[in-house]
Amino acid sequence: MANPGPDITAAPLQVSELFYSIQGESTYAGYPCVFIRLAGCNLRCSYCDARYTYEEEPRLMTVEELLAFTRRYPAALVQVTGGEPLVQEQVYLLLEELMWEERLVLLETNGSIGLGRVPTAVVKIMDLKCPDSNMSDRMNLENLKLLTPADELKCVISSRSDYEWAVSLLRTHIPAMEKPTEIKRRVKILFSPVTERLSPELLAQWLLDDGLQVRLQIQLHRILWPRKTRAF
Ligand code: SF4
Repeated sequence: MANPGPDITAAPLQVSELFYSIQGESTYAGYPCVFIRLAGCNLRCSYCDARYTYEEEPRLMTVEELLAFTRRYPAALVQVTGGEPLVQEQVYLLLEELMWEERLVLLETNGSIGLGRVPTAVVKIMDLKCPDSNMSDRMNLENLKLLTPADELKCVISSRSDYEWAVSLLRTHIPAMEKPTEIKRRVKILFSPVTERLSPELLAQWLLDDGLQVRLQIQLHRILWPRKTRAF
């Protein structure tokens, strides 16, 4: 069936910024990527480094305008991020249209909103907010059942107590965390230290000591551009 095209009567989206860069996180780190950073967030994490997404006045852009931006970079991945992208109803239309254009789409989401309406082919990269974020009680743990081996679960770790909380929760929901043979059969799990709060070296040692088959994530963009605090 041919794509009828985006509904031009649909309300515009609130956009924080658009840019083309190297993907800095997830198992797609290192690939060229177009970023659509939507404005607004329903959480207030203690370590948030993207406050501008909910403190600055957003730009209003239609789905068609966002698609036009992504078409400038036809070979790149497209990441829809925020803020929290799922707080805007029109994001589902945007995701559908990007799928029609046969893009590899990554959706970065904070884990508090149900993922049931996200198109299956979209790669979901969901945060697991640990207690030091002050937002762990906002997690929608039903989402864990919807994550497939194509998706990713990012545990954002500030401290030893965050680490222990995350490991305990994952052991409850995800079997055989120590078995390498399970890696390809379950959601990809990444442990990411909060910059300024926890050294990657210490987190690496904890993972080695416990023999957990999870991936240590270091933010590549902070290594490439250490003085940049945001894209623009
Ligand atoms: S979910 Fe992300 S954008 Fe929202 S408050 Fe937390 S860190 Fe900031």
